[in-house]
Amino acid sequence: MMEEIKRLTEVADKCINCGFCESVCPTYAPAEFISSFSARGRMLIGKELSKEIAVGKRISKDVSDYYYSCLGCNACLQVCPAKINAGEVSDLVRKLVVEGKTSESKQRKMIAEMIVHTTMKYNNPLGLKKELALWARGLSFFDDSPILFYTGGMYQMMPYSQTLSDLQIRFGSFFSSAMARLFNRFLFAIKVSKLLGKKSEVDKYNSTLKDIYTLLSNSGVKLSYLWEDEPYPGTFINDLGYTQEFKSYASRVTELFKSKGIREIVVVDPHTYQLMKYEYPKVVPEFDLKVTYYLDKLDRGILKRRAGSVTYHEPCLIARGIENYEIPFEILNSVAKVKLPRRNGKNTSCCGGPDGLLFPSIAKKISEERSRELKREKSDRIVSLCPICISHLGVNVEITDLSTFLIEATNH
Ligand code: SF4
Ligand code: SF4
Repeated sequence: MMEEIKRLTEVADKCINCGFCESVCPTYAPAEFISSFSARGRMLIGKELSKEIAVGKRISKDVSDYYYSCLGCNACLQVCPAKINAGEVSDLVRKLVVEGKTSESKQRKMIAEMIVHTTMKYNNPLGLKKELALWARGLSFFDDSPILFYTGGMYQMMPYSQTLSDLQIRFGSFFSSAMARLFNRFLFAIKVSKLLGKKSEVDKYNSTLKDIYTLLSNSGVKLSYLWEDEPYPGTFINDLGYTQEFKSYASRVTELFKSKGIREIVVVDPHTYQLMKYEYPKVVPEFDLKVTYYLDKLDRGILKRRAGSVTYHEPCLIARGIENYEIPFEILNSVAKVKLPRRNGKNTSCCGGPDGLLFPSIAKKISEERSRELKREKSDRIVSLCPICISHLGVNVEITDLSTFLIEATNH
């Protein structure tokens, strides 16, 4: 824990309080311009926390919402003259919250613990299993291939998490508290979550995974798949600041992959890529699996240029999280006329999705604003490549997964 406090002090001490980050922080305006919900506020409060905690004090005021609402989008880092990141401060403070160094809301603690417990028990935060492998029914895989097609359940979980977020908006904190209380007491009750996915949405995300599979298959890549044994990568546990639990979970997932003879993991979404490529090696010393984004395996020769224009919503983790990962834009640009929205590239806007479960009203406002920006380009299509972006923006605007767009480009 000393390491976290040391790092927090190191980062926060560099802040010169210029406020540049406030203007780009997506949570600031939706939170009614309360400074503590902006990058600058998080940085300044973090500075005070580090001083108090370093001398052994426990912070009795609950400041945790300011940090749990941070989207980790890295927009602040792009404009900061001191080259510091309020997103990193949020990560560090969340770890301190979990360690009990500051107070936190009982309701959120219950939700967080529910997520951690169910993931540890079922290898999935919603206790889903059969539902995750439905998309692959009837498809062929190569059981002895060391190259794993790894969905992490991210696309498949979107219809369920979207419903949870909608219910939370409709019934407020009463709903999530009741759910969390129930599931923490009777873990098996999480099984009701499988009733939450709307069929049309389940079909949509399953079809996207099939498109990714088809692109790889047509590119000659031989893949294995773990079907119902496929574990969730642990993104939530890490994001919520449960360091020890994440370490143990990541080790378990790594062991599972190794026991199946896997040498390379082909991931299909930016969150799983970021976690497996950069966070797993930090907590699992023996992690030596190759992590590849599926687009890197694509044979671009199978694609043909198509008519019409497309607006590209670049996910934060692609533009700012994965260093220089311009492959998606390059591929899209090679098949269609791309129109970029006002905020693009390193300045792209977050979709708000990471706040969907805990701060749904902030997430909703961010999504509405970004959707307006995307529509303004008046393209024939809007395309993105992250299940969270597709799910959150998809409420306000018609948006297609890049894989589906590329499949259409192979058929023309
Ligand atoms: S990471 Fe994004 S949401 Fe978090 S403080 Fe920085 S700009 Fe704001
Ligand atoms: S831009 Fe950087 S230095 Fe300026 S207030 Fe934000 S964190 Fe501090």
